[in-house]
Amino acid sequence: MYDENSNAALQQSARDHLWMHFTRMSSYDAADVPVIVRGEGAYVWDAQGRKYLDALGGLFVSQLGHGRTDLAEAAAKQAAELAFFPLWSYAHPTAIELAEKIAGHAPGDLNRVFFTSGGGEAVESAWKLAKNYFKITGKPMKHKVISRAIAYHGTTHGALSITGLPGLKQQFEPLVPSTFRVPNTNIYRAPVHGDDPEAFGRWAADQIAVAIENEGPDTVAAVFLEPVQNAGGCFPPPPGYFQRVREICDEYDVLLVSDEVICAYGRLGHMFGAERYGYQPDIITSAKGITSGYAPLGAMIASDRLYEPFAHGTETFLHGYTFGGHPVSTAVALKNFEIFENEKINEGVLEREGAFRGTLEKLLDLPIVGDVRGDGFFYGIELVKDKTTKETFDEAESERLLRGFLSKALYDAGLYCRADDRGDPVVQLSPPLICDQSHFDEIEQKLRAVLTEAAGLL
Ligand code: PLP
Repeated sequence: MYDENSNAALQQSARDHLWMHFTRMSSYDAADVPVIVRGEGAYVWDAQGRKYLDALGGLFVSQLGHGRTDLAEAAAKQAAELAFFPLWSYAHPTAIELAEKIAGHAPGDLNRVFFTSGGGEAVESAWKLAKNYFKITGKPMKHKVISRAIAYHGTTHGALSITGLPGLKQQFEPLVPSTFRVPNTNIYRAPVHGDDPEAFGRWAADQIAVAIENEGPDTVAAVFLEPVQNAGGCFPPPPGYFQRVREICDEYDVLLVSDEVICAYGRLGHMFGAERYGYQPDIITSAKGITSGYAPLGAMIASDRLYEPFAHGTETFLHGYTFGGHPVSTAVALKNFEIFENEKINEGVLEREGAFRGTLEKLLDLPIVGDVRGDGFFYGIELVKDKTTKETFDEAESERLLRGFLSKALYDAGLYCRADDRGDPVVQLSPPLICDQSHFDEIEQKLRAVLTEAAGLL
């Protein structure tokens, strides 16, 4: 299908017309654009027929892996029956059924589901709901958001304001005002209590109280936290962290938004990350794995308390998206849930997560590997220049090593994952939840070969 001629034509068209996301386009002046044409299970193939282990699940998305005809058929069936209708004062069966299904799995009284087209829109919706809720319940000044350093929450103006990566924001300032950062839970580089996870967790959570006090409790609406923070390379919460955050949120009447765009739907072996770490959010934002990537969808899940003022009279949440809760996407998500249950996907992650961690930890014998961290099927491997001092790379080394060598070398070795230096340099892994020991071994072996070569370049 993709012979030499059609490949050349695709390359030319891509160069002439396609604007890839977060992509330094000049990297493809001399190199081919990687064109992925097919997927099956944990593997994808490019237009030249080369095979890659998809160790990032596309982009933290492909929970059930590629090429599942049951998910594709659910999409086709729905498209034939009712391809589109909006959720603007109307409903359709699969959105209704999916809302009930999600509410059934979501912790506590998170019973109200507002569909979006993706994660950033779910984050926007959560911030707007928080502001709207306080405006109509007698605390109209509460509008500010606290989030964590280096955390990524999306690219729209609101979500980007909440994002804690100055480099991503710089070109778009001024953004939406009223967002503030607190430290994240990177214990590998903890400024205090680095040898005592509980004390560190308490300290990190208490920084949220400090920020609320500094801003004025009457002005703070919400704190946005991922169960495991992705950007920076997978920072799980220290023990007691979220319990302390919950106490602080209750004390100051600040909403706890669990941004689970990555961490929900099995990534950590549970439907929701909050469940894994035993805390009760006021809102969960989710997307990505909700359909395993077979159609785009996001969901903001709100508590009964937040919905209550909108349940009566003329009060209306004046917010929505044309494609939020698209019938094809909600049909696919329902099938995704059915497969999770039938094939015991979460149970499988919990059974195999120890083996995944153990296999990745073998890499700690390499001088360039400083830390292996994460939970479930979600890991970051931090690369360092000097393991004893934890010294990281300077800008020129990062450019040469990560952008110049690592991403391409991993891909050439048949491993699709992500070398990222939005915080300290890390390799990020988020493989399909169907992966087993053979995939873990392949990931480890390919990483070992490439990281060994990378260390030689220093
Ligand atoms: N929030 C988190 C935690 C994310 O990881 C992402 C995307 O990776 C987003 C929000 C934005 O999601 P989307 O790219 O679907 O808009």
